[in-house]
Amino acid sequence: MDRVYNFSAGPATLPEEVLQRAREEMLDWHGSGMSVMEMSHRSKWFEEIIKQAEADLRELMNIPSNYKVLFLQGGAWTQFAMVPLNLMKKGKADYVNSGYWSKKAIGEARKFGKVNVVASSEDANFSYIPELYPETFSKDADYFYITTNNTIYGTRYTKLPDTGNVPLVADMSSNILSEVYDVTKFGLIFAGAQKNMGPAGVVVVIVREDLIAEVNPEVPTMLQYKVHAENNSLFNTPPCYSIYVCGLVFQWLKKLGGVPEMQKINEEKAKILYDFIDNSNMFKGTAKKEDRSLMNVTFITGNKDLDAKFVKEAEEHGLVNLKGHRSVGGMRASIYNAMPVEGVKKLVEFMKEFEARNKI
Ligand code: PLP
Repeated sequence: MDRVYNFSAGPATLPEEVLQRAREEMLDWHGSGMSVMEMSHRSKWFEEIIKQAEADLRELMNIPSNYKVLFLQGGAWTQFAMVPLNLMKKGKADYVNSGYWSKKAIGEARKFGKVNVVASSEDANFSYIPELYPETFSKDADYFYITTNNTIYGTRYTKLPDTGNVPLVADMSSNILSEVYDVTKFGLIFAGAQKNMGPAGVVVVIVREDLIAEVNPEVPTMLQYKVHAENNSLFNTPPCYSIYVCGLVFQWLKKLGGVPEMQKINEEKAKILYDFIDNSNMFKGTAKKEDRSLMNVTFITGNKDLDAKFVKEAEEHGLVNLKGHRSVGGMRASIYNAMPVEGVKKLVEFMKEFEARNKI
């Protein structure tokens, strides 16, 4: 059976090499006589798997030793609450409202303290990253929160805000490992795995250890970073198989040349698609050019029926999951790390052919 080019926003396509390797190791992981799915999380084998995954991620992102790397559950959504529960010591945080997911994070944080929304792009359906003015930042905030890549709208920060001594917290769910970030610029980074790292079920948290040294004991045990950090993500049963596949993805990425090499490929892929859109008479990009995402490319024809026809016919050509999020409409091509350049070229070829056939 032929594999399709899957442009899903998440769970998303994984490198074929990783899936092949997981298949080869499915019944007998490294002579253990069992699948990773069947192993005790306390076994020496799983300990090796999780330690290697952490070491590889540290190498890929150049994570300093004063940062903890945690593999947790509950998706990015749980982080919307865990961040304020653990970091809001003075009861106040700054947030940038750059899309649906930032808004959800703001909603959760408001349950635990005062939220100052320093900027928003809601006035134009989040089609851009709002301008940030440091004089509007709260000097006494516990942290400053951004979503580095806005999955639904196809926007991304090209410049990080300078928040001084206030720790920067980032939801990096849809662009972790896609471009080089300086981890020391952040207090905490979190990312659900199901876009750029592996299967759903695990969320990675990278946090400066001084920020989690103290926690209000009333915070539920499972929601304390400190507990997970002290137990090396093995406080309770972790999502073992998801962590294992993330580890395979990290190895694949290392072999490819790491994040700088991946970034080059991602820039090349995005350029192919945006260049075509910008020169097309039929397709228009929906995000402000300067803020365009490398991971999620959003575009429309301006005609709902034509959009639907495009999505349907693309699917018949093995180019699947191109329907845009309902709040933007049109199309969205998610071209995460695992989407090969050929997949993007095939998509552009099809767009060209569709445009020629459906003159407007
Ligand atoms: N944050 C961002 C940027 C996302 O794109 C998503 C999901 O698409 C989420 C958070 C929510 O993730 P989860 O479903 O893992 O809670």
